[in-house]
This record gives sequence, structure tokens and C-alpha cells, in this order.
Amino acid sequence: DQTLRSYHRLLYEKAYVNGQWVEASSGKTFDVFNPSTQEKIGCVPDMNAGDTERAIQCASEAFETWKETTAKERSNILRRWVDLCNENKEDLAKILTLEMGKPLQESVGELNYGIGFLEWFAEEARRVYGDIIPSPAKSKKMLVLKQPIGVTGMITPWNFPHAMITRKAGPAIAAGCTVVLKPAEDTPYSALALCELAEKAGLPPGVLNVVTCSRDNSAEVGKTLCKSPTIKQISFTGSTAVGKILLEQSASTVKRVSLENGGNAPFIVYESADIDKAVTGVMGSKFRNTGQACICANRIMVQDSIYETFLDALSKRMEQELHIGDGFNSKSTQGPLINARAVEKIDHLVQDAKSNGAKILLGGQRKEGNFYEPTLSVVYTAIDVNGTVRPTFKTEEEAIYLANNTSSGLAGYVFTENISQMWRIAEKLEFGIVGVNEGLPAMPEAIFGGWKESGLGREGGKYGLEDYLEIKYVCMGGL
Ligand code: ADP
Repeated sequence: DQTLRSYHRLLYEKAYVNGQWVEASSGKTFDVFNPSTQEKIGCVPDMNAGDTERAIQCASEAFETWKETTAKERSNILRRWVDLCNENKEDLAKILTLEMGKPLQESVGELNYGIGFLEWFAEEARRVYGDIIPSPAKSKKMLVLKQPIGVTGMITPWNFPHAMITRKAGPAIAAGCTVVLKPAEDTPYSALALCELAEKAGLPPGVLNVVTCSRDNSAEVGKTLCKSPTIKQISFTGSTAVGKILLEQSASTVKRVSLENGGNAPFIVYESADIDKAVTGVMGSKFRNTGQACICANRIMVQDSIYETFLDALSKRMEQELHIGDGFNSKSTQGPLINARAVEKIDHLVQDAKSNGAKILLGGQRKEGNFYEPTLSVVYTAIDVNGTVRPTFKTEEEAIYLANNTSSGLAGYVFTENISQMWRIAEKLEFGIVGVNEGLPAMPEAIFGGWKESGLGREGGKYGLEDYLEIKYVCMGGL
């Protein structure tokens, strides 16, 4: 259709290595589908370990010159990349909705967020300061230098096909590193479009390489990145299970590993909360991206005394505001789930909750294709002193215990108007990101990353470059 056609000039069907659009050495490709219609969008190269090795080699050669560029030169290229992404935002958003399914307005939101990382790191590139340490010896000077860590390997997920790339490749390139990136098999097109714009912005060949592969080849490509002695850092966003595999595989070369794994976010609503604010928080945190974000509220916990009022308000807002449909339809707020496997997974969770006594108040049914109804279920998890299970908590401490009683630690949310409680809870939550009366905390200027099994390292903000820098102590003696 006419309105969609313009994005085609950014829809590339080849991988991007050393500044070239390339096929897999095997000649194999795999199909990519629109999750809304389940129609095939096209196909991209299904690369393997050998193709990945070649990309690593190119990134390694490119590093030799890229590391010698000045911060200002890198910053200028990133800045031009930002401008080109902004000029092409509409088409990039269409590609995003096409391959991922999220409503077009949300795709624009993701682009603003994602381009924001390129802009932020274009600026931060020029602020990588070293240190001079006051020396205890008169004849010695002590310096700390920061230098790019080298070739980096990246594996990104399908839920934010644009922003997860800019959040990693942005700081890596700003720091002077080169990149071999494997995008998620469901969403390769946003990654490839970014390569085209990077090239136009003047990024030299080999600095950013995108190796596409099917789910079948993901493990082999991932392993090649992790085991390669040339790659000095691995950066991953995705499931905790895969994150752990990559961490193990990176042990043999003692690589630096940055992981952004699953979340299991608690969302605590205390009786002191403003209920409207809390419901708005849930609507943003839980239903954005059809619930497919690693910082999504997973466990909404409400204090006894306001439980009925809260549930009532939330049900009403869900019924009024959530509309399932194709992301290109401007009325849709809830796109499809990414694929049939995701639908199976969600349906299994709902059935499992039901069989454990949960009450389904809204939704809980599959719709056609990859769509699933927004679901509100009441789960009985808190246990009274006398042994009865409740869907609510009674005391401040009980909520903290339940919230922290998980091996994950990415984001946590607390809603309260009581200032002392805000401080207490914000400090006690064992999570890398805490939203206080806020359901949408992520911004390029902020930091993003988890405690416990949710991850290693931080992305974004002034700390976001550190994963891509080595520090070196230089001692100048005999002075
Ligand atoms: P999800 O279950 O949400 O799809 P995954 O962790 O499986 O999350 O996917 C995130 C990224 O990890 C994707 O790019 C995917 O292709 C990749 N991936 C999946 N399995 C492996 C693996 N064994 N090794 C390396 N990468 C993998």
C-alpha cells in the first residue's frame, strides 16, 4: 500500500559486514514474518560460525584505525547518524511495527528513546576523562588512561529492535570499539536499516557489522562470539537462561560480559498511594509493548485496605483503554505477541495460574494469530500467620520481603505518597532500577541494568561507556 511503500528503501535483505551487503557463505536464508498478519516480510541471510569469524576479522582490522580516531571525530559521525535517523524516523518506525508488531506510535517512541542513546553517546564520547593520581613519591607521576576495550560482540532481542542496538553500539562506537552484532531472528530489519544510515553518516567499513541468523544458528553464532579470543567484550540483552550460557561460554577467554537479563519486577502499591497515579503506572509499565519489556511490572502487590478500590480502578482503565489490533491501525494499543511460541508461553502461564487457584478477572484468552487478550488475574501468594493465602499484603515489611524474594533484580516499582516510606522502600528494594510513583523510568540519561541474576554492567547515562573502556595505570618514574 502507498503509505507503507516509502520504507522499502530502508528494508535491506542482506547482512552487513565490512561495509558490504553480503549473503551467508552457505547461500541460506531464513524468513521473517509480520507478527500481526503472520505474512512473510522477506528473508535475510542465515549466517553461521564461519561467517561470524569473518565478521570478527573485519571488525578487528577496522579497530586498528578506529581506535586511533579522536573523540571529536567519532562524535561527529554519531551526530550525523542521529540526524539521519531523525530524518528517516517515520520509515524506521514503520519497519519496526512491521517486524515487531508494536503500535506505530510506540515505534516512534522507541525511536526517540533509541536515537537518544546515539545522541547521548555522541556527547559523552568527548568526556572520557582519565585521572592524575597524587603521587606519594617525588620521582614518580601516576596516570590513569581510558582506552577502548577492542572488538565487541553483541546479541540483541526482538522487543526493542532499534533501541537495544543503539544502547549498545552507540557507546561502543563512541568509545572507539568496533562491533559484531547479531540481532534477534524475529527482527533483523531495524538493525540493517541502522547500518545503512550509519554508512551514510560516514561510519568506516568494519566498525559496525551485523550478522543475521535464524533461531537454529543463534547458538553457534553466539558461541563463536563468546569463544573468540579477538572479541574482548560481549554485550547481551535477552532471557536469563541465554545470558547464563553466554557468561559460561565467555569464561575461557575471560571476556568482559555485560548482561541485561530478565526482570520479574515487583510493583508495590501501599495504602498511602495515590490510586490514580498507581493505576496509570501499571497501565504504562505493564501494557506498553504488549507487556514485552524486561522492566514490565510482573507482580503487582497491593496493600489490604485499598485492594478492592485498586482492582476496580485498574479493571475499568483496562477495559476503557486497551485495544488489541494491528500496530498500523491507529486505534490499537496492544499489538500482537512476537510469535506463536510467545503465545504458547503466555497461555501456559495463564493456565498454570488458573490451576493454582488464580482468578481471571479480565481476558485470559487467545485471539486469532499471535494476539492475546490483556489479562488481569488475581493470584493468591501471600500467606497469613495462620496459614491462609491472600492476594494482598498487610505490612510494609511483608511487601518488601515478597518483592525481594526472587533471583531477579532489574526493576522494581513502589507507589506511596508518604515521603519517609518512599526513601525506606527505594533503599530496601534489591533492584537496579527503582520507579517511585513512576512506571516508565527508562531514559538515555539514566542508567539501565540489574542486580542479582538480572545482569552485569550498566547501559546508558554517564556509566554507559565504562563497559566499553579499559583503564590503564601508567607510572612515569625517574623524574
Ligand atoms: P526470548 O526468549 O525472549 O526470545 P532469548 O534470550 O531467547 O529471548 O533471545 C535474545 C537473543 O538471544 C536473540 O537474539 C536470540 O537469537 C539470541 N539467542 C537465543 N539463544 C541463544 C544461544 N543459545 N546463544 C546465543 N544467542 C542466543
